[in-house]
Amino acid sequence: MSLQSNLETIRGNIEEACTRSSRDPESVHIIAVTKYVTNERAEEAVDAGITMLGENRLEGLQEKHGAIGDRAEWHFIGSLQSRKVKDMIDTVTAVHSLDRRSLAKEIQKRAPEGAVINCFVQVNVSGESTKSGLAPEETVEFIRSLADFDKINVIGLMTMAPYEEDPETVRPYFRRLRELGEEVQQAGLPHAPCLELSMGMSNDYMTAVEEGATYIRIGSSLVGSDASETEGAEKA
Ligand SMILES: *Cc1c(COP(=O)(O)O)cnc(C)c1O
Repeated sequence: MSLQSNLETIRGNIEEACTRSSRDPESVHIIAVTKYVTNERAEEAVDAGITMLGENRLEGLQEKHGAIGDRAEWHFIGSLQSRKVKDMIDTVTAVHSLDRRSLAKEIQKRAPEGAVINCFVQVNVSGESTKSGLAPEETVEFIRSLADFDKINVIGLMTMAPYEEDPETVRPYFRRLRELGEEVQQAGLPHAPCLELSMGMSNDYMTAVEEGATYIRIGSSLVGSDASETEGAEKA
């Protein structure tokens, strides 16, 4: 399938999910996750109308940004080692993986002069030991504690659901993230408007949109994956 037709399919699915949940499709942003693919393929996504690209490693971000530059917004979606913050902070529009105080401290320290860094706080809603993120019950307190970092703006929450054949299975995790976001909103913290939800990937984005996702992170079913000849194709 061509990238353009993948994108049309995804947009159509988003529209249907929005109809089912009485949402405005304009409120759902597609981040094309390019970690599996070449610079050329990522560039093709931008040519097709994608405006946001996501990478989960510093090296990938640097390589793709070197080729594509500011024709797209850059979203950092992977777990982030503090020592790497200084090398990516000038490039990214948002960090989706803020999950600990030491990382917040480093972002505060390395943020460019006059800049405020938009962050999603990552929550491990499913509690899987392989996933990073805060426990749901720690999240609100953690976000409150970021008040002393004036360079951090918590625009929303992010989660990764476990991979399931049937996305219905993970609906409760998306719902829980939305409820947590509402809890943070109600706290009325100036540094944490928390209006955004970064959730949903190739296999579960329609469910995520129904539950309120405003940023979906789509890799294999949009740009493909290196493993597309094998299991990736089926997943897409
Ligand atoms: C790889 C990745 C994605 C995209 O995964 P697909 O299933 O290929 O759409 C989304 N979010 C994160 C954090 C990822 O690492």
